[in-house]
Amino acid sequence: MSTFSDSNAQSFPVTKTDEQWKEELSTEEFQVLRQAGTERPFTGEYWDSTTEGVYACRACGAELFTSKEKFGSDCGWPSFFAPLAEGSVRYLHDRSLGMERIEVRCASCDSHLGHVFEGEGLDIPTDQRFCINSVSLSLRPTDA
Ligand SMILES: [Zn+2]
Repeated sequence: MSTFSDSNAQSFPVTKTDEQWKEELSTEEFQVLRQAGTERPFTGEYWDSTTEGVYACRACGAELFTSKEKFGSDCGWPSFFAPLAEGSVRYLHDRSLGMERIEVRCASCDSHLGHVFEGEGLDIPTDQRFCINSVSLSLRPTDA
């Protein structure tokens, strides 16, 4: 039994057309955030970052994760064991690529962030690994 259930949110605080997003985002950001793409592992800006701060949605600026829940994972993407707050992200079952995965999206603008995996036996408080694309995030350092 998965702890994550699909949320049937029908409306989002931030709603824009693809044309508007394309104007605001880079090509790579658009592909990941709006078309559920995945950046290549070990290439992103934040996968090995230990800078303290808050990670906000690159598309809408909603605060999603903090460095306190970030942990060193060998997967090549920024990994968190929990979101900043319940309700800041939403979950969707994703059966693409022949795998059953749980997609993580921003609850404010419905942009794709990454996937969450659980029960991997990792030495983390929740046993949930939020594997998030760097390009979906924007780090706001604590002492900036
Ligand atoms: Zn967002």
